[in-house]
Amino acid sequence: MSKTLHGLGVSAGSATGPARRLGTPPTLPGAEPPVADTGAEADRAVAALEQVGEFLRDRAAAASGQAADILAAEAMMACDPALASQVRGLAAAGRPAAWAASEALASYRAMLTAAGGYLAERAADLADIADRAVALLLGQPMPGIPAPGHPFVLVAADLAPADTATLDPATVLAIVTERGGPTSHTAILAKTLGIPAVVSCPAALTVADGTVVAVDGTDGTVVVEPTAGQVEQAARRAAERAARLAAARGPGRTSDGHPVTLLANIGGPADVPAAIAAGAEGIGLLRTEFLFLDRHDEPAGAEQRAVYAEVLAGMGGRKVVVRTLDAGADKPLAFASQQAEPNPALGIRGLRLDGLHPALLDTQLEALALAAKDTGTDAWVMAPMVSTPAEAAAFADRARGHGLPVAGVMIEVPAAALCAGQVFEQVDFVSIGTNDLSQYTFAADRQAGALAPLLDPWQPALLQLIAMTAAAGRTTGKPAGVCGEAASDPLLALVLAGLGITSLSMAPPALAEVRAALADVTLAQCQAAAKAALTAATPAAARAAARAVAEA
Ligand code: PEP
Ligand code: MG
Repeated sequence: MSKTLHGLGVSAGSATGPARRLGTPPTLPGAEPPVADTGAEADRAVAALEQVGEFLRDRAAAASGQAADILAAEAMMACDPALASQVRGLAAAGRPAAWAASEALASYRAMLTAAGGYLAERAADLADIADRAVALLLGQPMPGIPAPGHPFVLVAADLAPADTATLDPATVLAIVTERGGPTSHTAILAKTLGIPAVVSCPAALTVADGTVVAVDGTDGTVVVEPTAGQVEQAARRAAERAARLAAARGPGRTSDGHPVTLLANIGGPADVPAAIAAGAEGIGLLRTEFLFLDRHDEPAGAEQRAVYAEVLAGMGGRKVVVRTLDAGADKPLAFASQQAEPNPALGIRGLRLDGLHPALLDTQLEALALAAKDTGTDAWVMAPMVSTPAEAAAFADRARGHGLPVAGVMIEVPAAALCAGQVFEQVDFVSIGTNDLSQYTFAADRQAGALAPLLDPWQPALLQLIAMTAAAGRTTGKPAGVCGEAASDPLLALVLAGLGITSLSMAPPALAEVRAALADVTLAQCQAAAKAALTAATPAAARAAARAVAEA
């Protein structure tokens, strides 16, 4: 008998397949078993490391770009002769294979961490090798993304960024997690890869490995052991969706021609081809901190200049909005760290870091200005986590001082939305970061899955702040975009357009759905949907009211 689990649909689309759980790291039992044959034990330990190396080499061959390089380097470390001889030494001293491998890798890890810089960045790879070798030696399931040799639906409590570096949309049909909200890493990653996803699904871990599930990332349902009829219905819906998306092309506009610029959110040059392929009219958010998340030292200006130039050149003169480093809270950067804070999300993050490390912003602005010159393009630049018109003015001055003529800020703090008129006086454009604006409006940590209902982008209070910002944009005649996850919800996109938002920026795979939704309605319908959603009492009522208008 089929049963339906409910969660939050955060990445549109549907898929049916066998469930596979994310493997958890193995644990060594407290007591070491006695070793009868130390030579055989040494051979077992080294063979396990070689097997891990082979596994990683295969994964590297199947991956591309930076992920392939990281996996290939990790494979080499697993098969390092010096590591093997240290493992043999420990085994000869009577340690069981799993303990010998674990201890040798732990001592290597300590050495790399102490060396600092690039070597320290590789310490996490050694932990991964140790987990895999120990799992093999103890006969426990492999940690991380499973590799059953066929496509599957990934089921997990939650996904960490490290779990997802090599997630392949060709084998991961859909994602279902117990935790995570609409702005969690899982949601953002799933949308980036175009994988249907349901998060905040409390019963996710009750699904046994191998059970067939039909996941609908649009309405947030997971049908466990679907009937043939349900599978057929899901396939029909998927085909209808594909046909509708294929029919919508060109720049974003309503059926009566009102333009809403459709832009892409990216993390670096590697994402540019996907943005172009999805028909993005430009980049609305380049999250520059994503380029440097694993770095221990500040990247030099020359290196930054080269990466920004690559993005600008790749976009061939289309609009590109570069966000200055948004370090801190959910995006810690080792080289821009500050004293431990009791509440990092309310502390020194984003633009506020400039008070501690002013050179960081100057290096970045200069590198971007040079990249714009190198490529003969106009880069737009904006700062994250701006709270007051004075901060907006100071940032715009700094950017213009470096020769960047188009300077803006993100509206992520309610204070900035409340003073949007004065903020607009200081800058050329704003972009609303609804992920953080939700977190700060509702005093709800964006990473706390349990608070997902408060972080729902349909919350009428959030819509009020967006409406105020859009109205200030209209008054000043300056662009007011949205680049948080809210922009990628096709129904909410209509509401945002109706509020007067001029551009929507999202993960490239979300563009087609939003483009098709806009093309189906008139501006007047968008405005009516916006009015209905704004005056609703709950997110559910706002959705229902907007849907009723859009489908009228
Ligand atoms: C946001 O806060 O909505 C945003 C786009 O920035 P980030 O998700 O990178 O904090
Ligand atoms: Mg933000």
